[in-house]
Amino acid sequence: MAARRKLIAGNWKMNCLRAEGLALVGELSRRLESAKDPVFDMLVCPPATLVAPVADALKGGKLAVGGQDCHAKEKGAHTGDVSAPMLKDLGCTAVIVGHSERRQDHGETDAVVKAKATAVHVAHMTAIICVGETEAERDAGKAEDVVAGQLRGSIPQGSSAANTVIAYEPVWAIGTGRTPTNDDIAAMHAMIRRTLDGLVAHPESVRILYGGSVKPSNAVEIMALADVDGALVGGASLKADDFWAIAESC
Ligand code: PGA
Repeated sequence: MAARRKLIAGNWKMNCLRAEGLALVGELSRRLESAKDPVFDMLVCPPATLVAPVADALKGGKLAVGGQDCHAKEKGAHTGDVSAPMLKDLGCTAVIVGHSERRQDHGETDAVVKAKATAVHVAHMTAIICVGETEAERDAGKAEDVVAGQLRGSIPQGSSAANTVIAYEPVWAIGTGRTPTNDDIAAMHAMIRRTLDGLVAHPESVRILYGGSVKPSNAVEIMALADVDGALVGGASLKADDFWAIAESC
């Protein structure tokens, strides 16, 4: 099996003003730069307003910066939106697409997510494509079907480990403090890897992150599961100690 390096990604969502954000990345990058041979990659995805100052502060360092969303078009009459080339221009190397909060709050369908992921690829960045079932879908026994359908609908042609990361985030686990059992996470990640066969080149080398209430107290066991190649972290990515502890659990 190809070795997959773990990725610990922080999704700040709509949090942090400039001073807080800069203090947070200052502390994280100080720890990352002084860590001896870290076994993980680390990425922060600040709100659009902070991408530029954060990217400037981290320039040339190991801590990578990403966007939380982008428009599918390169430019044009789309008031309030940000394009993939704009994020690339600031120094981003990755963009989260299809987060369940975008799917829910902005009605983003699989087709929209796929178009956005394509835009990220065209701009030479990594698309972190999010999938995950709702609680009702899990209760109805449809979790795997829903996630497989999202993967088939959201992953563009030409995807590979070089430009794509998958994040499995059960909607009911996001921000709730609840997580699936370890067996459920492992089963879903195995299903995702099987489903990637035919959708991406070399599915065994694509990283599959788990997201949803990851914190220092559960990170060690979740990161140790087969086919879990890192974490997409919301709330706990806003505190340097917590985010660093999650990374160290790899
Ligand atoms: P959470 O969010 O860690 O706060 O549950 C995860 C996410 O939405 O990416």
